[in-house]
Amino acid sequence: MAKQEGTTRRRGFHSANVAVIGLGRFGSSLARELVESGHQVLGIDTDDRIVQNLAPVLTHVVAADTTDEETLKELGLADVDSAVVAIGADLEASILTTSLLLQLGIKNVWAKANSASHGRILQQLGAHHVVFPELEMGKRVAHQVSGESLDYVTIDEDFVMIKTYVPDRFDGMTLAEAKIRANHGVTVVATKQGEKKYSTAFPETVLHRGDQIVVAGPKAPLDLFCQLV
Ligand code: ATP
Repeated sequence: MAKQEGTTRRRGFHSANVAVIGLGRFGSSLARELVESGHQVLGIDTDDRIVQNLAPVLTHVVAADTTDEETLKELGLADVDSAVVAIGADLEASILTTSLLLQLGIKNVWAKANSASHGRILQQLGAHHVVFPELEMGKRVAHQVSGESLDYVTIDEDFVMIKTYVPDRFDGMTLAEAKIRANHGVTVVATKQGEKKYSTAFPETVLHRGDQIVVAGPKAPLDLFCQLV
């Protein structure tokens, strides 16, 4: 086990104890980001080499097989706030681990699915959150590659947030004058002029051709709004 010094870096917020199981590309990136945000992370992987590499980075890191119930209990998994099962390719290990974590009574079990059928099984087991990193990133990049938007994030099944340019027709108008919410059913939440940083949008914010905007709304009107650019 390796302990990193000074893992809680931010004051005045709840530092969670999170177990990340499976430290492949997705799991290790997630675990690093959690540590970076000030959380306590217990990383677990069967591969000794991976465990050694991450020892200086994570709060604790252990080489263990999480399909074994006793191992999970010995590692104190029942006490974590959240656990993420980031095992993808080994379906059996993903399912067994998720099921054992749920049996232990962990309140927030997140599981990564490599396919729609894998995701369905994890949902049926009772995983509280199922994520599809490859599927979701594929969709996001598709919108960027096609040039429809500069970025595209699905917030919920039918609610999306995009980054795009100010359509020419709104050049020089304030948001109040542009009436984007009333006429297009989407909301401009932030704007970025030239090299400046993004700032929150207000009714008096003036839009300029070439400025970037972040727009949120239901998928259908947002797709139509993108076509104005
Ligand atoms: P990624 O795309 O994130 O690299 P992946 O979807 O290919 O991962 P896997 O290769 O199945 O997923 O698993 C990721 C990690 O999980 C690997 O480092 C692997 O050693 C680890 N792992 C697999 N089975 C177990 C297990 N039973 N207990 C703990 N760790 C495991």
